[in-house]
Amino acid sequence: MKIAERLQEKKKFFSFEFFPPKEISGRKDFFVRAEKFAALNPCFASVTYGAGGSTQSGTLDIAEWFKRDLQIEAASHYTCIGATKETVNIFLEDMQKRGLKNIVALRGDAPKGQESLYDIEGGLCTAKDLISHIKDVCPEMGIAATAYPDPHPKCANIADDILYTVEKNKAGASFFLTQLFFEPRIYFDLVHRLQNAGCTADVIPGVLIIRNLAGVYRMLSLCDVRISGKLLCELESLHKEGGDKAVEKFGLEYAIKMSRSLLEGGAKGVHLYTLNRIEESRIIVDACSDLLK
Ligand SMILES: Cc1cc2nc3c(=O)[nH]c(=O)nc-3n(C[C@H](O)[C@H](O)[C@H](O)COP(=O)(O)OP(=O)(O)OC[C@H]3O[C@@H](n4cnc5c(N)ncnc54)[C@H](O)[C@@H]3O)c2cc1C
Repeated sequence: MKIAERLQEKKKFFSFEFFPPKEISGRKDFFVRAEKFAALNPCFASVTYGAGGSTQSGTLDIAEWFKRDLQIEAASHYTCIGATKETVNIFLEDMQKRGLKNIVALRGDAPKGQESLYDIEGGLCTAKDLISHIKDVCPEMGIAATAYPDPHPKCANIADDILYTVEKNKAGASFFLTQLFFEPRIYFDLVHRLQNAGCTADVIPGVLIIRNLAGVYRMLSLCDVRISGKLLCELESLHKEGGDKAVEKFGLEYAIKMSRSLLEGGAKGVHLYTLNRIEESRIIVDACSDLLK
């Protein structure tokens, strides 16, 4: 089933993002945990592609396993940076063979020193190019794309970022997953601006579970998202007093607070960046269970 169709059901939901274990040997343990994730009844699962050094080949195996063995609709991420139309087609054929009907179509980031990949003549250089290509060769595929509450670091200005996101919708993306962000208000601002610009697709907010201060610094530089001075100071002073344990406890409470605000404020669901961690995810879903109806 296309995930965009599932999103039309009335009930509010959580969905989960996973990354494939780096080593094949790590999969057994992942599968045991994934069964526990399935018990949390997510609307769908998405599996990253090559992000943070995770293996690319693992993406389809894990997505197929979610769909076939756990009966959870799964979306495979795919990045087109440096890919030819032929390599995209091979990935799509593999998805179809495995019965996978949903893709998160991404541009991806060029490795350092290979920035020329952003501009290959006749290549697929943006997510929008990829979405149009998928629509041409595989019209029955459900397509999701990214949206950025803090504008993407490469965008010229906020207005262009919004217009470009709307273009991805017109090209065939039927729902959006957002980049992580730290204030619910900027998600609702994004939704408002997209709707004003003619976007008809659902925009599902992505929520990160803060685990330690080093991770926050890494995310800030990697994704170029904004964090308020107040929140950063709070995290830094917690770290000073109680180390990573104190930050982790706060991070979990913050993810619950964010998820509740987003669901109460009108978001249809929350896409949890689970970092493959079951216990935190279970606590967050439980803490919001009264809103999941
Ligand atoms: C939900 C989510 C999941 C992700 N999963 C993965 C993953 O699995 N693997 C991985 O490697 N990375 C992943 N990423 C990171 C992603 O690859 C990077 O953020 C990358 O820099 C942009 O990819 P994109 O698909 O958003 O690009 P695009 O949507 O193509 O472009 C990003 C931005 O560039 C600007 N832009 C691009 N083209 C134009 C244009 N023609 N005109 C105007 N502006 C333009 C816009 O501001 C746009 O928002 C993910 C990101 C998110 C938010």
